[in-house]
Amino acid sequence: TVYLDNNATTPLAPEALTAMLPYLSTDFANPSSASRAGTAVKEAIAGARADVAALLGCRTSELVFTSGATESNHMAMLGALAMAPEKRHLITSTVEHPSVLLLCRHLEQTGVEVTYLPVDASGQLNLAELRAAIRPDTALISLMWANNETGVVFPIPDIAEMARAAGVPLHVDGTQVLGKMPLDLASIGVLLFSCSAHKVHGPKGIGALYIQKGLGLPPLIYGHQERGRRGGTENVPGIIGFAAAARLMADIEAESVHLRVLRDRLEQGVLDCFPTAMVHGQAAERLPNTVNIAFRSIEAEELLHRLDQRGIVAATGAACAAGGSRPSHVLSAMGISRDDILTSLRFSVGRYNSRDDVEQLIRALIELVPTAEPAHQAAPA
Ligand code: PLP
Repeated sequence: TVYLDNNATTPLAPEALTAMLPYLSTDFANPSSASRAGTAVKEAIAGARADVAALLGCRTSELVFTSGATESNHMAMLGALAMAPEKRHLITSTVEHPSVLLLCRHLEQTGVEVTYLPVDASGQLNLAELRAAIRPDTALISLMWANNETGVVFPIPDIAEMARAAGVPLHVDGTQVLGKMPLDLASIGVLLFSCSAHKVHGPKGIGALYIQKGLGLPPLIYGHQERGRRGGTENVPGIIGFAAAARLMADIEAESVHLRVLRDRLEQGVLDCFPTAMVHGQAAERLPNTVNIAFRSIEAEELLHRLDQRGIVAATGAACAAGGSRPSHVLSAMGISRDDILTSLRFSVGRYNSRDDVEQLIRALIELVPTAEPAHQAAPA
């Protein structure tokens, strides 16, 4: 298989699997147990927390393990609202992940007012619009660092500066930046940062929320674990696997270069073969590993299916409803036409991809993508 859908999830690193195995068998003790075995597991969790903190550039005391970025996003947003009961306004963007947007829709039902900042044709925010949206009753600004569908990177350090000056907490959904670019949360005024292990070759069902020191964020799930900030017996194998994956990312500059070289070759290869193809967000700063392309001559669902038959996995990025696909809310927000959206595919490379994977994809695309005819003629009946 040529797996080019690393923004959806990544293959588990063999090192992570190896590290996890004892905790799925012999080392099963409850870390809250006072037994020697329990204490050993507790110490393993402490070591794991240090490894993940190193990847984020934060203190170990600032990290809470959760079930993933969806839970971290919920904890951050609901927690920030609970901390300021008199403030009933949130700022986010139109291109967030559904775990943020659907929570916002729910909060609107409970009387919270939400400002959804638009993006321009390149997928970028207008910071003047963000500044103008901040109100005295704004409880939180919640924005993603990088978009999962297009890879477009928001200028979080500048936004953090603006939020700090305005006295409004900032939560960042950092799920897609982890393991793709260097992070130093300590030096940026981000108060809350969500991430997930399965996007960086760790296991599924484990993630973290960074909570800046001193911020008394209330729990989403009550219990004694995680110093009272997240109840429930720890997902020990998950935490250990997350840490093993984080250790693999120690040389993040090299990781990032590997991704960028492959993505750039993929992108250039496609544009050379299909001159009418369009790369979404090309004008904006993007993640090193992501490219989202409107081929314009074949329906994305059809192309995805034909690639899959050849063992090549990509994505449309669009939320697929049963019985059909809806055009991506992200590309729609960028003003891309419905026709172009329905011909758009996302390719996201990862640590285990090689130059050969990219060449295989390009050869397949040359065979599968018509070069001149419009989409409605090219798509088979
Ligand atoms: N936020 C972003 C930007 C994502 O790409 C994802 C991945 O699906 C999530 C949140 C949710 O992560 P998880 O599946 O770990 O809850």
